[in-house]
Amino acid sequence: MKLEGKVALVTGASKGIGAGIAKALGAQGATVIVNYASSRSAAEAVVAQITMHGGTAFAMQADMSVAADVVRLFDAVKTEHGTLDILVNNAGVAVFQMIDDLTEEAFHTQFNLNVLGYLLAVREAVKLLGPKGSIINISSILSTDPYLASSVYSATKGAVDTLTFALARELGSRGIRVNSILPGHTNTPGTDGNFAGEFGEKLLAGTPLGRFGEPEDIAALAVFLASEDAHWVTGESIRASGGVRGVGY
Ligand code: NAP
Repeated sequence: MKLEGKVALVTGASKGIGAGIAKALGAQGATVIVNYASSRSAAEAVVAQITMHGGTAFAMQADMSVAADVVRLFDAVKTEHGTLDILVNNAGVAVFQMIDDLTEEAFHTQFNLNVLGYLLAVREAVKLLGPKGSIINISSILSTDPYLASSVYSATKGAVDTLTFALARELGSRGIRVNSILPGHTNTPGTDGNFAGEFGEKLLAGTPLGRFGEPEDIAALAVFLASEDAHWVTGESIRASGGVRGVGY
């Protein structure tokens, strides 16, 4: 058990990659706060899976793009747990549009959650994180390899990698490590149906390990980064993609 006695908060953990990370952290002994925005029963199901395997977890609602919700969430963490050791910024949204169709609404929806939401969570988390704290930001391989129609989403993930490095510098003196994970194409409710047809075949052909990822593939790296095994790793952006690199679609 690599995370015994630790308290972890995973944002957007009712489904997909966040749920996979929450379960993996719970399996390593962390007490896990499973954040969700609207899918309460899905979050409670994740909590039930963690507790069924002997772990400890709680569901907590907050819209991570709304500052007042973020403050309320961390206040609740402080009241109920007193501390925090691991923050996984995972809640994110993707809107794929060619530039001709760009709307300010789509821009703000994505930047408010994928970038501002991560920064607000870190601002609140550092009030609770002690030395040896670990912050993990979920980015995307689109940060460096954008597909067509992904200018805004890819830009949010580029920002995530940059803020990861900036915050690693800023928080290093407090002993807090900050890293990002760049998942490749991963099967989740959010990508359901996206990897079908000719597009999916191209994606697979560009994936050396020959399959799409599963949340567990990403969670294994998150456990490493959260744990003392990664005590000398900070400011890094690490791909977990089955080897996808430099492919444009
Ligand atoms: P997903 O299946 O769509 O799940 C999204 C999760 O985020 C849900 O738990 C959802 O909870 C939560 N969420 C959405 N809006 C929220 C908000 N405003 N506040 C709090 N929680 C919110 O997503 P996913 O595919 O697992 O993606 C997770 C992360 O990985 C994202 O940052 C995404 O950009 C990144 N990523 C995914 C892939 C991929 O191929 N799947 C690849 C690269 C990067 P509710 O249901 O309660 O709204």
